Amino acid sequence: MYDFARALADAVSGSKLETGAIKALLMANPEQTKSLYSAADRTRQTGVGDEVHLRAIIEFSNYCRKNCLYCGLRRDNKSIARYRLSLDEILTTATEAVALGFRTVVLQSGEDLYYTPEDIARLVYSIKNKHDVAITLSLGEHRRENYRLWREAGADRYLLKHETANPELFRFLKPDTTFETRLRCLHWLKELDYQTGSGNMVGLPGQDLDTLARDVALLRDLDVEMAGVGPFLPHYATPLKDAAAGDPELTLKTLAVTRLCLPGAHLPATTALCTLATDGRKLALNAGANVIMPNLTPLDVRRQYQIYPQKSDMTEKPLETLTSIKKLLAGLARPLATSHGHAPKFTGGMKQ
Ligand code: SAH
Ligand code: SF4
Repeated sequence: MYDFARALADAVSGSKLETGAIKALLMANPEQTKSLYSAADRTRQTGVGDEVHLRAIIEFSNYCRKNCLYCGLRRDNKSIARYRLSLDEILTTATEAVALGFRTVVLQSGEDLYYTPEDIARLVYSIKNKHDVAITLSLGEHRRENYRLWREAGADRYLLKHETANPELFRFLKPDTTFETRLRCLHWLKELDYQTGSGNMVGLPGQDLDTLARDVALLRDLDVEMAGVGPFLPHYATPLKDAAAGDPELTLKTLAVTRLCLPGAHLPATTALCTLATDGRKLALNAGANVIMPNLTPLDVRRQYQIYPQKSDMTEKPLETLTSIKKLLAGLARPLATSHGHAPKFTGGMKQ
């Protein structure tokens, strides 16, 4: 049995934690939680510095071939209006993001085969050709050759959350695929030299603290460059509509422990957490996070990209979002980064 104080001391000294020690940290009581967050904050400062990186996210299609039990975009959800942006519209939106000062554009969608692999490659190439910006793709599971094509077209990063490190729970929640397939995709992305992001949801039905500890250990063992840790939020038009939402405090603890295990990773203050807690961004930035991902999806379709309900950023114009982020960061004495925000180990020889 690990006790909290010992696990925290081991984490701070940089020792590789066993899942039992990770679990002891996740079980922190309210008093211990404070020291967990301040340890994570110090590790964040030494690992990635004080700067906060902004990534503009463009959700360009809500069509999806998959039927994940938790997600509002699942193919069996007939109650949402589906939309697709044209390649020109996506390029225009990326151009707006760059004009606002963003140095990273994240292109995310459901798994929508309407766009051919070549379409995506052309899009990536056009954005990179036109702008000095990093591109993150978040398009789900695809063949290795597609990942390669997009990497060759200029994509820098790829986000593919493992969602849960429990293979049985994974299979139940994502009936079209397997945990093994997800991991294989993550390994391909690493092989192809993408800055690779993964992550998990906190509070999924059927998840326990052992699973959550394995989630953190997996992120550490994969040595991901980015990790998104957000609460599960039930969507009214999914089979999990009656399940309870993830706990914001446990989400923050998981974020903090992830930071202790991955000092050099980029960790966002997730939109899902902000949906649950109005001061979620601030809390996350004080518990290990160093990235914010404002939503740049055109306002006329933004509401339709409802992976979970009441997303916190449904109506805000990009400029308003930027203003409130700048105010928040000024209050926290955290500078806004001006570089591309590549992962530290990818910056050698690359223009920051
Ligand atoms: N289709 C791609 C990317 C879009 S979904 C993919 O699945 O990888 C992006 C993320 O939304 C998922 O990784 C998942 O972690 C999150 N998500 C989906 N439904 C959610 C819910 N109900 N609550 C919280 N996060 C959710
Ligand atoms: Fe599709 Fe991603 Fe939602 Fe699953 S989580 S249904 S793959 S958009």
